[in-house]
Amino acid sequence: MSVFFVNEVFCSIQGEGAWTGTPAIFLRLQGCKVGCPWCDTAYALELRKEDRLPDDDARVFDKGGASPAYTCARESWLVRELLARRGAIRHVVITGGEPCSQPIASLTSVLLREGCRVQVETSGTQPVDCDASTWVTLSPKAVPVSVDNWARADEIKLPVRHMEDVQRHEAYLATIPAEKIRLQPVSRDAAATDLCVRLCLERNWRLSLQTHKFINLH
Ligand code: SF4
Repeated sequence: MSVFFVNEVFCSIQGEGAWTGTPAIFLRLQGCKVGCPWCDTAYALELRKEDRLPDDDARVFDKGGASPAYTCARESWLVRELLARRGAIRHVVITGGEPCSQPIASLTSVLLREGCRVQVETSGTQPVDCDASTWVTLSPKAVPVSVDNWARADEIKLPVRHMEDVQRHEAYLATIPAEKIRLQPVSRDAAATDLCVRLCLERNWRLSLQTHKFINLH
């Protein structure tokens, strides 16, 4: 039985990428070593002893704010609690942190069997080991992506602050159909947004805005 370090589980609207506008239940796993300077989930990166709650602690559901507290959850408990809280929602987003640094393969299969659509958001720095029917959003950062992960991705959601954020991945982006590539300005920065718009027009790529942040959704 797999266990997971869970930071939070909450219902919201997917604000980014191909599934923008879709009601979703977000499962945020704790822990990431990539170290992006603009990370907007800095509270979910470290696995500090002092932040660890008791195992299977339901306080990670609807925490009501960003905090580094996390629980070690058994898969069976996590699935049961998540399904009990999803209401009408059928889209599950497994995010982080870096979700692929935890053993999510069985979890994705179980959620799919329960009638969920499952989306994994990953930096691609770890092997993407999940059910073949899982939607994989690859979000490359300033570190190398495993070659296999480019081919496995259902969409590329590339955070862009400067042109270098695109240039460092050019060789692989050239192998991906244009409609699968989404540029996302970092932190809604105006110059980054202008750059993304220009590149989308030049290359027929898509624009991804963090729409949830425009309406103050978590
Ligand atoms: S890969 Fe994602 S979670 Fe990890 S530091 Fe970068 S933005 Fe944050």
